[in-house]
Amino acid sequence: MKPVYFDNNATTRVDPRVVEAMLPFFTEQFGNPSSMHAFGANAGAAVNCARGELQSLLGAGHDHEIVFTSGGTESDNAAILSALEANPRRREIITSAVEHPAVLSLCAWLEKNRGVRVHVIPVDSKGRLDLDAYEAALSDRVAIVSVMWANNETGTIFPVSQLSDKAKAVGALFHTDAVQAVGKIPMDLKSAAIDMLSLSGHKLHAPKGIGALYVRRGVRFRPQMKGGYQERGRRAGTENTPAIVALGKAAALAALSMAQVNTRVRGLRDRLEQGLIQRIGHCFVTGDPDSRLPNTANVAFEYIEGEGILLLLNKEGIAASSGSACTSGSLEPSHVLRAMNIPDTAAHGAIRFSLSRDSTDDEVDRILAVMPDIVDKLRGISPFWSKEGAPQAFDPAYA
Ligand code: PLP
Repeated sequence: MKPVYFDNNATTRVDPRVVEAMLPFFTEQFGNPSSMHAFGANAGAAVNCARGELQSLLGAGHDHEIVFTSGGTESDNAAILSALEANPRRREIITSAVEHPAVLSLCAWLEKNRGVRVHVIPVDSKGRLDLDAYEAALSDRVAIVSVMWANNETGTIFPVSQLSDKAKAVGALFHTDAVQAVGKIPMDLKSAAIDMLSLSGHKLHAPKGIGALYVRRGVRFRPQMKGGYQERGRRAGTENTPAIVALGKAAALAALSMAQVNTRVRGLRDRLEQGLIQRIGHCFVTGDPDSRLPNTANVAFEYIEGEGILLLLNKEGIAASSGSACTSGSLEPSHVLRAMNIPDTAAHGAIRFSLSRDSTDDEVDRILAVMPDIVDKLRGISPFWSKEGAPQAFDPAYA
């Protein structure tokens, strides 16, 4: 049976049209974009064309605001490190408790090794940012606010426009990790006070290892990669032309079909969530129901382990993901669900189903067909589930 891939927030299939667009740049058009001959000029023109495609997907004011990088992690690091270097008198950062490790690990490192003060803003049980705590942390000591546009685990969307206005009022830079949002929701950076934005190709049907950092014109930028004058001195190193062309094509395709894709994918996602809740007791959807990416369903199945669900789904040819990470031998629930105060008995059994424009009704039906048995089977061996089929206090007989 054809495998079902519902893990598109982890990575997406490269669109065949994207592959087709990038292939000539490995062979006939292999020039170095900096070279002063036709090979170089062709490659350079293709890179600039891709820059324009990204500019229009983001609604940016100018294509010079796009800096190509190796992906989301590099863009996040480049934005935060640049802000600290460009504003040496400001030694504080504001971020949220539910950021990707590309931001949170860097902030923890800066706190420990560079004496930077990091304000980690909490979220509520739906994953919404605590706006009072955010406002209280803002001051003229803050170099940069880095708050994601949409959360990778729950799909919760933060009000970045509102948050960036408040950062601006104290003279702090505003960066957003929009890795999960770009290509999924409309953007108009011209009309927002966002100074920097990270995106990653492999989340929008382009290859892995390519991404971009949007840097608004006028923002003082300090490059982390020093070397040649590529990307107007903001990111040294010969451009990865085929991957950049691919990212440009992926951006153009996303822009072309975003509205229709969103309507269809949201419909599939909602049917999946409602179907699971109807068929299975003691499960619920996490995240903000009023402000969520259309492709993301994070469902917590109480009293069982997410890893068990994933293994059994995998046996059925279905790929999804769990919020848990295996840390030092113990299964820890994800930091995102922890920050949302989701009880451990539910956070451990949280599964993220993330759809794409390739997802189909049949695939949703297949998941709905197998999930009730999978959950029954795992609850049958759960120390938190009684033989009579109801939650119970931990049964030490299983320990
Ligand atoms: N930020 C978010 C929200 C992500 O979901 C990811 C990838 O999962 C990243 C950053 C890292 O992006 P990349 O894999 O391109 O380094």
